[in-house]
Order: sequence, then C-alpha cells, then structure tokens
Amino acid sequence: MKCLSTRGRAPTVDLARALQAGLAPDGGLYVPESLPAVDPGTLDSTASLPETAQSVLAPFFADGPLAGQLGEICRSSLDLPLPIEAVPGSKSGAGEAWMLELFHGPTAAFKDFAARFLAECMARLASTEPVSAVDRTILVATSGDTGAAVAAAFHGRPGFRVRILYPEGRVSPLQAHQLGAFGDNVTAYRVAGSFDDCQRMVKAALNDPELREKARLSTANSICIGRLLPQIAYYAQAALTLTGTNRAEELQVIVPTGNLGNALACVLARELDFPIGDIWLATNANRTLPDFFASGEYVGRDGLATLANAMDVGDPSNFERLAWLYRNRDLHDARIHAESVSDATIRERIRHEHEEHGLVICPHTACAMEVLAQRRAASDERPFLVAATAHPAKFGEIVEPLIGRKVQPPPALADLLSRPSHAEPLEPQERALRELLLKP
Ligand SMILES: *Cc1c(COP(=O)(O)O)cnc(C)c1O
Repeated sequence: MKCLSTRGRAPTVDLARALQAGLAPDGGLYVPESLPAVDPGTLDSTASLPETAQSVLAPFFADGPLAGQLGEICRSSLDLPLPIEAVPGSKSGAGEAWMLELFHGPTAAFKDFAARFLAECMARLASTEPVSAVDRTILVATSGDTGAAVAAAFHGRPGFRVRILYPEGRVSPLQAHQLGAFGDNVTAYRVAGSFDDCQRMVKAALNDPELREKARLSTANSICIGRLLPQIAYYAQAALTLTGTNRAEELQVIVPTGNLGNALACVLARELDFPIGDIWLATNANRTLPDFFASGEYVGRDGLATLANAMDVGDPSNFERLAWLYRNRDLHDARIHAESVSDATIRERIRHEHEEHGLVICPHTACAMEVLAQRRAASDERPFLVAATAHPAKFGEIVEPLIGRKVQPPPALADLLSRPSHAEPLEPQERALRELLLKP
C-alpha cells in the first residue's frame, strides 16, 4: 500500500519508506492512501493477537518489502499478554464494561506494542540496505512513556542509536530513571522545556534535509505511521473477542488521550469495520480536544503539567491525521467525544476505585474510568471497553499515597529501576539538537 502526506504536497511512497521517514517532506504526516476492506466477520474471534494483527495489517503491507515477513514481525513483536478483564463492580448484561490491559510489556505502558513492532520492521528493512558507516538515529520526543518503550525496543540492536528528548521535571521520577537506565546505544536528554518543545525540536530536525541525511534520522514518535498501524490490532482483537462474530453488538471505547495516537488507532479499527461504536477521548486538564468537539474550532496551545503526565499535550500531532481522515465528513458527526478530567478528579477516581473495588489504576487510566463513571451516571448502559494504558507502579508517587499502600512494579520494570541512570542536559532550542546530532 502507498502512503501520502496529510498536507498533500509530498510524493506518495511505499509504506516501508513512510515508516522509515517518520514525517513526510512537506511537514505532514503519512496516512494510508486508502483504507483496505477488512471483513471482521471472516476473522477468527479466538485467534491470538499476533494472528489478528497479521490479518488486519496484511493489506497495508501488501506489495511492500516486508509483505512476506509480516507474520514473523507480528509474532516476535506483539507476543505480549493482553488481558481483557471485566471492570470490577460492573454488571453483566446491561452495564457491562471491560478493561483492555495494555501495560504488560517490558516498560509497562501500551506503547510497548507499537514500539516493538516498529523496531522489528526497521531492523528488517535495514538488513536489506547497503552497510553504512553511520548508524541510523531514532529520534524521539517523549512525555514519559514513548521514550522508554522505543529505547527498550531498539536497545542493543546493531546499526541503530536512540536519542530521547524528555521535558525535565515533567515526567515521573520513575519514568526519568527508566529513560536514563538503558545506556549502550540509547542516550536520554532532559530538555529544559515542555513536551511540546521536545516535539517541536524533533519535528524541526526531521524536516531538515541535511540533518536527516547526515544523521540518518528516523523517528519512532506516534507521528510515525509504523507506530499507529499496529495499535489497530489490539482494538480489533478486543472487539472480536468481546462481540464474537455476532456483529449485532457494538463496543463503546474510552481511550486516555494525549497525542491522539492510541485513540486514532481505535478510530481506524472502526473504519475497518470492527464493531466499535462511540469513542471517547479521555484527556487530562489539557482541553484542546474537548474544546474542539464542543466549539468546532481547533486551537493548539502549550501543554499543561498534570498528574497524567504522558498526556500533557496541548497540540496533539495526530489531530492532523484525524482531520484528514474526516476531510469529506463532519468530525462532529463522527461518534467521537472528548472529556477533560481535572487532577482533583483523577485523585478522587484513583481513591474511589481502590476503596470500592480494590482496583489500582494509573492516573491516565483514571481519566478513562472517570468518563466511564460519567456515562453510567448519564444512564448509558451500553457495553464499554476502557483502555488501561500504564501499570500503576509507574506512577507510584501519585497512586501510593492515595490508596495507602505500595504498588509492586512488574519484574521487567523492577529490573530497569535497579540499574543506574543518566541523562544529558539540553536547551529547548532546535539549534542545540542540531549540533548534537551532527556530532559523530
Ligand atoms: C502516551 C500515553 C497516553 C497517551 O497516548 P496518545 O497516543 O499520545 O494519545 C496515555 N496513557 C499513557 C500511560 C501513555 O503513556
């Protein structure tokens, strides 16, 4: 399948090229030229995630250099546990709700799925290229979790180096430790600025043809289409598992949302005809998306620091893709809704879920659980799926005081935390990033 740019001023390229380039040369984001017809009714509702992913993604990879390897790519990167649990306290029948636990990968957040998939694709593409004296640089801006997932996925892979930019003081202490703990081919930079600064610097570097060439730049941010596509698979999997092949029932989905990558994958799963109905974007106090859906006007702004820091985004990159997808339709009729959740309500929700149901959730998942509670309070008894995006132990300093006990990190996370950690300082200027990328 070919990809084109949301801004329409770049040549169409093969998916593999789009996946390596990250950003299109006109500054737009790559999108699939058309959406393939997938018939979910023909898929096996008992298939594993890698199997479902292969079926869903095959048309996107058809005719490209990775077409014949897609099965192996899915098997080696998406083989992570994906529990779908009933939300404690939810009813069965009317009022049913499930949690899609996306946090059982090596860095305990949903981004592991797509980062691992992308790394596997890139490594396979690189193995067909002429040997270069310069390693390919994977440049990533992170609000906390992306950087770690990408670092874990590329750590120790020959021919790649990873450069992570994160906003100093705006990620959790545990996230900061995690980002600096990889070493080897991974370097973490703490930027004296916001996530939006980091994202702007990365975009500027990727838009600089000389730099892109000399440093062999790629990105693994959610602006890269290779991050977006694999995420479709777990929504497809959840919809298949929970509704079987009986298409009568639709699942409503609530997604904790920052840069809009994860939720956009859910929208794409619905476009591919999986039985998904209304989609809620649960944001923190960053109101850009809720304001857009309320007023019709998109106003990007600086990100505000909140308890759900991986969603501290004021100008979500993937909005450009969503607008492109709906270019001929009205986004206000798209059955997409957005609700903003304050820090006070996040705290209250974490405390409440633990007290009432013994459920321990991270601040991001808490935003989505709050939206679920609002739907139920509005007598919306339809079946709901809540995306649980991170393990609560990643945000222990917030969660533990609220629930009055320790949260044990999963083993892979505990291992990273036991290693020493180091990050380099970086000024929030495009020039500063340029200089360091040109250094050998
Ligand atoms: C990145 C992240 C989000 C936001 O996802 P987007 O794809 O940027 O909308 C939500 N929760 C957690 C835990 C994250 O790491």
